[in-house]
This record gives sequence, structure tokens and C-alpha cells, in this order.
Amino acid sequence: MSTAHSVAPEATDALRARVDGQVFVPGDLGYDRARHAWMLTVDQRPAMVVEAASAADVSTAVRFARSHGLRIAPQGTGHGAAPLEPLESALLLRTSRLRGVRIDPDTRTARADAGALWQDVAVPASDRGLATLAGTSLDVGVTGYTLGGGIGWLARCYGLAANSVTAAEIVMPDGQLVRADHEHEPDLFWAVRGGGGNVGVVTALEMLLYPVPELYAGVLYFPVQRAAEVLHFWREWVTSVPDEITSIGRIMRIPTLPAVPDQLRGRAFALVEAAYVGDEGTGAELIAPLRKLGPEIDTFASVPAPALSQLHMDPTEPVPAVGDGTLLTDFPAAAADALVRLTGADTDTMLISIEVRHLDGALRRPESGGGALPSIDASYAMYGSGLAATPEAAATIAEQTRALKDALAPWHASYNFANLADTPAPAQALLPPDSYQRLQRIKASHDPDNAIVSAHPV
Ligand SMILES: Cc1cc2nc3c(=O)[nH]c(=O)nc-3n(C[C@H](O)[C@H](O)[C@H](O)COP(=O)(O)OP(=O)(O)OC[C@H]3O[C@@H](n4cnc5c(N)ncnc54)[C@H](O)[C@@H]3O)c2cc1C
Repeated sequence: MSTAHSVAPEATDALRARVDGQVFVPGDLGYDRARHAWMLTVDQRPAMVVEAASAADVSTAVRFARSHGLRIAPQGTGHGAAPLEPLESALLLRTSRLRGVRIDPDTRTARADAGALWQDVAVPASDRGLATLAGTSLDVGVTGYTLGGGIGWLARCYGLAANSVTAAEIVMPDGQLVRADHEHEPDLFWAVRGGGGNVGVVTALEMLLYPVPELYAGVLYFPVQRAAEVLHFWREWVTSVPDEITSIGRIMRIPTLPAVPDQLRGRAFALVEAAYVGDEGTGAELIAPLRKLGPEIDTFASVPAPALSQLHMDPTEPVPAVGDGTLLTDFPAAAADALVRLTGADTDTMLISIEVRHLDGALRRPESGGGALPSIDASYAMYGSGLAATPEAAATIAEQTRALKDALAPWHASYNFANLADTPAPAQALLPPDSYQRLQRIKASHDPDNAIVSAHPV
């Protein structure tokens, strides 16, 4: 397969001599490994891949790209690669080697280099009795997740991950490394907190941690035939719970993989997953009404924060997933019925996971001095996905996801959330209008040539 833009071999060799990391162009042994995204359905074929080994490498690669007419696409894991535009004229700047993390228990903060995964931060933080605002999977990258906002298991209690960022280091499109925080580069600091990676290549983030040594968390499994009953009960229940509980109502078809326990393998369930920031006794009282429904399996227990990554059963290895989601202003009975009608027991849907997350709480309260996405003006987030072994399967799953979103259209919020938007969507569709306008001005002033490729472009 040809690329639209090729770089002269002498120039590539000169770049190789200047970086500690690795450089690949099409045809090189290693190019195929280096260009791969976690999302295996994405076939990205950049003009060049640089695996940076330091912030200095990032800066060198950015300067090189600019002087050779390439755009720059920063990427850590590729979990969020699905909405990216084609990269034939771009340098894919992989940060996956930059996984340094420092935890400071005294200031309750962490510093994570751009390629750190959430597990790199969550595990050492937990060893000191502290929790991160990670999402459902600890294999997701800290940077992409946080730049997009970040809604995790502690979200209703502590808000968006972006609001807990205290500083960002960024290589700008001219190759300069800058530090942005509450006192310096206020526009850049604002833009990285929920505005995606539009203004430069982030090389490190610093963030607050929270004193949460343990949570009461687990999953209740019901046969999928009870999906309507369970989702209706769950959506009533969430209106009565404190902000310390974040929960998800879900339909899930468990794959027939050998690693899956016999009890679950190949079966479909209606699930309620929840995490309570507090003690076991109070947590059990709060969950009691759901328990009275008589789940087939109940995994609730007191667990350290990193164990929350077990709740949602996200794949730990790269997968050929296709999915998409949307924010919902409400999840009334008619919305739950529509969801069950399209994806419940009596359907031939290829979607293996359809989840509705309860938002509100701290997510709804705008953070004073917050960034591009200071809060979420919606009460629920829906995401549906399937695994596609063939392009035909991918097309069917995409169509079924679209149909599900369409069925919930009466409750769509006025803008979507970057981390849910796995089909191409401009930043304009993902931010409040005044935020988008400010982001546009910042982009125009710091990246007038649109050198930085972002998952959701400005
Ligand atoms: C299994 C799974 C579970 C998930 N769970 C949640 C969840 O619970 N909550 C939630 O909010 N989201 C969740 N997400 C969505 C996830 O947060 C986004 O896909 C996010 O973009 C992933 O970040 P990443 O760095 O791993 O991905 P990448 O694909 O590496 O990055 C995504 C985008 O972020 C930007 N970016 C990444 N690194 C940089 C950088 N160094 N500088 C500038 N820009 C950069 C780029 O625009 C890039 O295209 C989940 C996704 C998956 C696949």
C-alpha cells in the first residue's frame, strides 16, 4: 500500500541519528508493529512513525515533521484511534515508551509521562492509600483519556479527570517545550483540560490524587431476559443515590473465550456495576434495593481502587472493536424500552456491550477555574460496541450502533463527549459553544498551520 507523502531516506537517517527513540517509514521492518493502534479495526498508515524516548525526542520529531511538510499525530495506546483522520501525510508520534510516573503522597499528586497507562499511576498511588480518576480500564492511556475529559468510577464524587490536572508539559508546534499550569500559559492549560490534544504534544501531566484506600464495588448479574426490569429499576434507583456512588446499567454478551469462567462463558446478562466511595456497611445498605431483585451473581466487596478495573470486564489486549456513544439528558422508561427493544434478549444484535452510565453529581458542577470542559451538562452516557472479525461485521456493528443512537435521539444532549465519540466528530460537536469558540481562538494562535492532528479536530 502506498503512502501519499514520503520522506527522503537521507532525511530519515538524519532524524534517526538525532533521537534516542526509534523511527520507522513504510517498508521498514518494525513499521507495521509501530503503526498499530490498540483498536485493531483501525488501519493507520502514517508517512513516518517516531517512538519517542524522551520529551527532547518529541521536540526533535515535531521540528522534523514541520520542516518536511508532515502533520503530527500524537498517540499513546491507540485506544482512541477510531475517529482519527487518515495519517498518510502525518508523522505518528508514539509516546508509548514515556511511562515514567512519580507519586507524591504529601501533596497527593501524581506526575505521569505522556505514554503512561492508568495502571502505571493507579497501582503505586493505591500503595499509598490514594486513588486516581481512572476509567473502567487501566490499560487506557492517562493522556488521551484526560485530554478528552475522563469519566471514571469516582466521577460522581470527584468529577472529570481533566478538572484534577494541575499542570501539563507540552511540545508546541514550533518544537518548544512549555509548562502550563494555573500561573503559566493559561490558554494552553485551559485547552488541555477537556479540549483534546489540539494545541501540541503533551509530554507529561500532573494531577491530584484522592484519599480513597478502598471502595465498596461490584457487579450484579441478571439473566438478559430480565433486562427491561433491571434497567427500569436501576434508572429509578440512581435518582436516590448519593454522589459517592457511580454506576452503570448494562446489557452484555460474554464471549466464548477459554479464559472466561464457565458460569459466564457465552451467556448474555443485564448488569448493574457500581462503585461506592465509602465503607462496606453503608455501601451494602445503598445497594440493598438492587440486591432484592435477586441477582444470579453478586460480586460486591470492599476493594482497593485498582481492582475497579475488574468491574467492567474491558479487554486487556488490543481488539477489533467498533463502537460509538452519546450523552443523554435523561434515561426515562421510553429510552430504556428503546434500548432493550434493539439490544435485549430477543434480538440478533451484534453489539456485545450496551452501557448507560449515570453522570450528574460532581460531573455536573462546573469547576471554578476549570478548562475547556469544566462539567458535563447531561445525566447519562450511553456507549454500544461489538467485536468485528471482518469488514462486513464491522459495517453491521456500526449500523446497529447508529440505530441505537438514533433510537435515543429524543434524549441526546446538545453536545457529545470526546471519549465516547468513536466515529469522526469535530471538537465543535463535543464542547459547549463558548468553549469551542475559545478553543478555536487558542488553536489559531498556537497552531495556525493546523500541524497537530487530533482525534477531534478544531
Ligand atoms: C476499553 C476502553 C475503555 C474506556 N473507558 C473509558 C472510561 O471509563 N472513561 C472515559 O472517559 N473514557 C474511556 N475510554 C475512552 C478513552 O478515554 C479514549 O479512547 C481516549 O482517547 C484514550 O486515550 P489513549 O491515550 O489511551 O488513546 P490514544 O488513541 O493514544 O489517544 C487518543 C487521542 O488523544 C490525543 N492524545 C493522546 N496522547 C496525546 C499527547 N501526548 N499529546 C496530545 N494529544 C494526545 C490524540 O488526539 C489522540 O488521537 C475507554 C476506551 C476504551 C477502548
